Amino acid sequence: MFLADRLFGFSRTLIGWANHLLPSNLEYFLYFRPIIKMPHVDIGIAFATFPKDCPEPKVLQCNMGHMESDDLDWYHTNSATMKMLNSLAKEHGSDIGFCGDIVAEFANEVPGTIRTQGSVRQLNLSAWSSVEASHKWYVGNQTHRQIVDMHHANGKKEKAVDQDKPVLASFSALLMQAEPTKAARYHVKCRGCGHMNTKSFPESRVCVKCGAPIGIPLF
Ligand SMILES: [Zn+2]
Repeated sequence: MFLADRLFGFSRTLIGWANHLLPSNLEYFLYFRPIIKMPHVDIGIAFATFPKDCPEPKVLQCNMGHMESDDLDWYHTNSATMKMLNSLAKEHGSDIGFCGDIVAEFANEVPGTIRTQGSVRQLNLSAWSSVEASHKWYVGNQTHRQIVDMHHANGKKEKAVDQDKPVLASFSALLMQAEPTKAARYHVKCRGCGHMNTKSFPESRVCVKCGAPIGIPLF
């Protein structure tokens, strides 16, 4: 493990040098912990943004996108996703009813290149204080409107390279809106006495047993 750690440290240095050669808003990402190899379990990358003033989540919006990796869909959808995450990261959650957005992507990589083969699966899971709040934000967001237009536009792959009016060539998606069938519950461990508070949070922010302050993010 020691030698592996040293070699990994060296590779981090190399990645750092590679990042200096990229445009300033791009970087290669290297995870710093070894993970267990599991057959038939895909490993990917995830992005998330959570507002500091998070309201209580009441609805989840789920979009599981699928696309071929030999067209420009990955470029277009990721570009839109990054812009939307960046916009949401600047919002005050309580102002717009936003609780958090997690994006995860799974793709087959060809070693030594950033190109992929096969298909790419991309999950976008966002939490909101209400259906109306999420609808209002997505409808009002210009980047979202543009990518939805590209998604709905009829057209074939060759048109995907037309920068004047690009279309998504293969992107297809499962859309789900999920509301809890019973009230969400929080299990919050007290750091003072170790008691697991299962019923009082977030209405009460103190441990029911010892009175110490307790709390976790609402999403
Ligand atoms: Zn306690």
